[in-house]
Amino acid sequence: MPSAGDSLAGLNREIVACRRCPRLVEHRERVAREKKREFRTQEYWGRPVPGFGDPAARLMVLGLAPAAHGANRTGRLFTGDRSARFLVRALYDAGFANQPTSERRSDGLHYRDLYLSAAVRCVPPGNQPLPAERDACRPFLARELSLLPELRAVLALGGFAWEVLLDEAARAYGVERPRVPFRHGACAPLGPGKPLAWAAFHPSPQNTNTGKLTAAMMTELLGRIRGSFDSGRPARQR
Ligand code: SF4
Repeated sequence: MPSAGDSLAGLNREIVACRRCPRLVEHRERVAREKKREFRTQEYWGRPVPGFGDPAARLMVLGLAPAAHGANRTGRLFTGDRSARFLVRALYDAGFANQPTSERRSDGLHYRDLYLSAAVRCVPPGNQPLPAERDACRPFLARELSLLPELRAVLALGGFAWEVLLDEAARAYGVERPRVPFRHGACAPLGPGKPLAWAAFHPSPQNTNTGKLTAAMMTELLGRIRGSFDSGRPARQR
């Protein structure tokens, strides 16, 4: 929970300096030293990746963790890899982004009414944080949720982010944890006057290349979420 005087800027400084998980510190720094061949001339970020977006956002999108050669390279969530290309195009089409691409921190991308975050802030080996690493990192999310007062919806990408969201939202808002299983399009209320939790398949190449998640599915879901801002209730699936 945030203390008096806590701020998004202060929280993000704390996140970027964090070295709480020895395995992830070693991994993120090793990936940054060794690099991928196509990025060998670039300087990798190699640190925890903070949240990014509009402090007055009504929607938060919550990913799993930075990608090794995406956010761990560029220093910005969903930037510089194929998942980013899919997601940011969808966010642009839904009116949340000023441009359809997200390639580097200096590319001019701005989000409107949207804040991006991740359940774990350091790249994990094999995209799989250990339970202790998940638990060490997720209090950052509870503070972030409490520092975004206009939130009406949080969209978790994938089952891992969904479970962390339900846990930490219950903690941040002091409500009972919803018992709603993960599925694309799932929606759970987080308490009276609190945001709705939404779930989507993660936009990883594994899902988008196989058609498990299509651009139409993501656009439809983002449209339903926008619709819920007006009604305060989940819109029915079209
Ligand atoms: S995963 Fe989170 S808690 Fe662990 S070192 Fe990174 S920022 Fe810190």
